[in-house]
Amino acid sequence: MTELVLAHLYPAEMNIYGDTGNVIVLRKRAEWRGIGMRIDPVGVGDTYDFTSADIVFSGGGQDRSQEDVADDLQRRSDDIHAAVADGTVFLTVCGTYQLFGRRFVTHDHTEMPGIGVFAAETVAGDVRMIGNIVVESEWGRLVGFENHSGRTFLDEGQQHLGSVVKGYGNNERREGEGAVTANAFGTYLHGSLLPKNPALADEMLGRALARRGLDARLESLDDSSEQRAAAAAADRP
Ligand code: GLN
Repeated sequence: MTELVLAHLYPAEMNIYGDTGNVIVLRKRAEWRGIGMRIDPVGVGDTYDFTSADIVFSGGGQDRSQEDVADDLQRRSDDIHAAVADGTVFLTVCGTYQLFGRRFVTHDHTEMPGIGVFAAETVAGDVRMIGNIVVESEWGRLVGFENHSGRTFLDEGQQHLGSVVKGYGNNERREGEGAVTANAFGTYLHGSLLPKNPALADEMLGRALARRGLDARLESLDDSSEQRAAAAAADRP
């Protein structure tokens, strides 16, 4: 049986609002197609060879959790950039997404370095952006929940994940949501993201399979309950 490897980066430190649900969805949607998935937890200080991962996930965190991982992430920067260049799929949510830009400056002016996978930077503002969010993307409508002080501004030419239909997204000017570089995805969407957005989950699985030279065509699943959940979420104020 084909087995994919998912590295779960900072599972203890960067996992607020149930972001680990993204790992559960990727594993289940692979298993439902007869594809195995090994989960490798990678904590602060752990040695890990990212060339063994097909997918890397890391979730959101409070400012202090981000401070707890920022130095460790810096030490992994070259390996992560090499993995991005090699087509490894990354899903980074909120706090990790911010640290995959050039830097994150908190509300009390603490500056954390990022690793610059995304040509972007984040500076906390006075408005905390909280609430349900709906985004239009090339993978269809995406629904989720956001809660961040960080205002992320993408450089000219940096691809967004999508455009904001409801909510804030990257910043209070609603200048798009998230970022995509190669197979690396960044987003503010908690919820967690993938349970209600199965098309994006399958996009990530397909890209991971294709990178391995495997058949990336995935058998379709009955996603009616996921679609009902997404529709209900999209209708929330
Ligand atoms: N601490 C960051 C902010 O407030 C990220 C929050 C999060 O991961 N939800 O912007």
